[in-house]
Amino acid sequence: PSFPATELERMPVSLLFPGLGHSGSGSTLLGYIGIDTIIEQMRKKTMKAGFDFNIMIVGHSGLGKSTLVNTLFKSQVSRWSSGWGGEHKIPKTVEIKAVSHVIEEGGVKMKLTVIDTPGFGDQINNENCWDPISKYINEQYEKFLKEEVNIARKKRIPDTRVHCCLYFISPTGHSLRQLDIEFMKHLSRVVNIIPVIAKSDTMTPDEKNEFKHRVRKELETHGIEYYPQNEFDDDMEDKNENDKIREAMPFAVVGSDKEFQVNGKRVLGRKTAWGVVEVENPNHCEFALLRDFLIRSHLQDLKEVTHNIHYETYRARRLNDNGGLHPISANNTQESNL
Ligand code: GDP
Ligand code: MG
Repeated sequence: PSFPATELERMPVSLLFPGLGHSGSGSTLLGYIGIDTIIEQMRKKTMKAGFDFNIMIVGHSGLGKSTLVNTLFKSQVSRWSSGWGGEHKIPKTVEIKAVSHVIEEGGVKMKLTVIDTPGFGDQINNENCWDPISKYINEQYEKFLKEEVNIARKKRIPDTRVHCCLYFISPTGHSLRQLDIEFMKHLSRVVNIIPVIAKSDTMTPDEKNEFKHRVRKELETHGIEYYPQNEFDDDMEDKNENDKIREAMPFAVVGSDKEFQVNGKRVLGRKTAWGVVEVENPNHCEFALLRDFLIRSHLQDLKEVTHNIHYETYRARRLNDNGGLHPISANNTQESNL
């Protein structure tokens, strides 16, 4: 049996709550409240606080890793750049080196940390050479967790967590190496991995497209989920946008910290006997696509996925192991065994 609707229920929402009234074409506010100023308020806070962004670069030496991050941020953010020249001492094991810089643009301050991993993949036996890298990533989660469960928490916890790991694939034109597959397989569960094809100026456009296609296939075959991961698309709009990006990955990039004059304009590029390869020219390589994706459209999302997915997974596991409730005291030096 159905009950007759009361007067109240039959009354239009707009009469009950003027200002929240609905009509056919969206909301018609009767007077301005000012909800939209939250955006401006957030902007001001972010401007004042600035933000952290931590990027890790992995791939064997000579693939142009240092050059590429310098190209991305248009400055010498990586200390181990090609400026070192000639002899390159290869460390016996993978080293982890982090350098931080504050970069400011339009009044917004970004504390950028570049985490370099010299020695990766340079040995004859590269077995488990991702161990020091995965240890570093987990240590940053642990640091953050310790700050978070502290009784006297900092108002703002310094964020050293790796938001993005650029993995450099050698432009062989053949296929991924076993090491590439193993690394991405192990690490894609703990960090956002963005594979890129290094030094793509060494391939012809046909070779490049063929290689990209093959790499995508191999990644799929091995079930490697790189960023932006399918499963974390929020809605259809997200999915459509990210599908386009995924179809264009891995970006085939070229890096350079040298400027040349082309058609009266100064551009970053590599001078060859046939002309200048312009790094930001989309007809020459996909550097601009990577830059736009990494910095201009997905930087905040990289931070959010790191916090909401990767860190959250670590945190849940860690607190479970810890009996769930006991806070980990700040002076407890026992390291995670994860
Ligand atoms: P890393 O060891 O991976 O950090 O490599 P570097 O950035 O130090 O670069 C190694 C060498 O490769 C240097 O001589 C660079 O000038 C050169 N290089 C860097 N990026 C590119 C590129 O995109 N194309 C080509 N052809 N050479 C590059
Ligand atoms: Mg380097």
